[in-house]
Amino acid sequence: MSGPRVRFAPSPTGYFHVGSARSALFNWFVARQDPEGVFILRVEDTDESRNREEWVEGIYSAMNWLGLTLDEGPFRQSDNAAAHDSAAQLLRRSGYLYYCDCTFAELETRKGPGATPGYDGFCRERGLERGPTTALRFRTPREGVTIVRDLIRGDVEFVNNLIDDFVVVKSSGAVLYALANVTDDRHDRITHVIRGEEHLANAPKQMMLWEALNAATGDEVALAFYAHLPLLVNEQRKKLSKRKDPVATESYRDQGYLPEAFVNYLALLGWSPRGDEEIVALSTLIEQFRLADVSHSPAFFDVKKLTHMNGEYLRALSLDEFIDRSAPWVAPWSSAWQPSDREPPWREDQFDQHLYGLVAHLVQERVATFAEIPSMVAFFFLDEPTLDEASFAKVIVNDPLGRDLLRGAVQRFERLASWDAASLHDATLALGEEMGLALRKSQAPIRCAVTGSLVGPPLFESLELLGREKTLRRLRVALERV
Ligand code: GLU
Repeated sequence: MSGPRVRFAPSPTGYFHVGSARSALFNWFVARQDPEGVFILRVEDTDESRNREEWVEGIYSAMNWLGLTLDEGPFRQSDNAAAHDSAAQLLRRSGYLYYCDCTFAELETRKGPGATPGYDGFCRERGLERGPTTALRFRTPREGVTIVRDLIRGDVEFVNNLIDDFVVVKSSGAVLYALANVTDDRHDRITHVIRGEEHLANAPKQMMLWEALNAATGDEVALAFYAHLPLLVNEQRKKLSKRKDPVATESYRDQGYLPEAFVNYLALLGWSPRGDEEIVALSTLIEQFRLADVSHSPAFFDVKKLTHMNGEYLRALSLDEFIDRSAPWVAPWSSAWQPSDREPPWREDQFDQHLYGLVAHLVQERVATFAEIPSMVAFFFLDEPTLDEASFAKVIVNDPLGRDLLRGAVQRFERLASWDAASLHDATLALGEEMGLALRKSQAPIRCAVTGSLVGPPLFESLELLGREKTLRRLRVALERV
């Protein structure tokens, strides 16, 4: 017995949707858990009005980022256009398809208001020949039912009479998605069609086409199993919206989510590994994944949970890995790949790789994505910190204690015998205590003056790394400003 042959068949009509990423991943799991499994990428690029070459590139790069390796392909559906045409002609000659020249307006007039949608079969027996305005429609059986054997949902029954004679080839000669898809699936001997729930309604039509092609060609290709993955919904339990929800996989890559964290999170969308742990090694996900265990109910795409998970993955990296893998966000000039629109606020000549190496462990504990790093460490590399004016006003301009504290800090820091985090801590603590301030309060104006903001990496370690000269200069500059 050979292994499963699965394919991921995206249409390049936009950003790489997180739902597509989940479909690709679940297909890939099925292929990878069998030594003979085959995973194919087929870009369904036959709708010329909606495709763009950059989206095709986006698919390749997102798949690459996610590590979804291919066994065959990538194929372009458009390369197989001749086979789609001959399949259509064969089906027509064999009586499965018929020419129809009805316009939409004619159909509407015939059916009258309030009629059920769909084609009324007017041209079924007219025996039209091909003409400039004729489309080819499938002669859907009028009796019986078509049962989609879905590995996730069980048997889903469709009453044939309710499936209208759908268009297979447009009057322009363009073969539509349903037939192109089935022709390619048969050609590639696909055993499992695993895709989003929105395609469930297409499945009976595609099964009819598949069986018609089997009969017309005499090549009995076993019908694929179907598995329709549950819808992804947002916090309001509404279908993820391309416009309103953050659905572009590319944007997660650009924000510095780790692909392994993203994959782990995607795996939980409609499925869960055994046990209570949600952070699970890829090999375990592959081993445990079963289509039969995928849920029917919509899965909440929870960005907060994803982000939290990513933070856990970031903290689990070794420091060297953290430093290397954050390079695109902190030193893009030194990295082969750059995230889009994510330039750090410093120039190459301001950045100090050695210093970053010393600072990195302070931020590794505090960020959930790589894109959060630059604003947190900018004060190390910029000549002047970027001031958060509101905080500056609050703890320095409008607070006489804050200003006194800065003056006291300048005096004590100047005299420190050793410039290290412990001495800086002790000096600040002592100064604050004399003024009746807890450490948290006494740190705030110092942090604001030196780093520009009230949040950031641990203060005293940061001051140690920044050095005495820069620290004192910033404290003085802040005092001069008020
Ligand atoms: N090209 C279709 C889409 O992007 C997928 C069809 C399928 O997987 O069968 O939605």
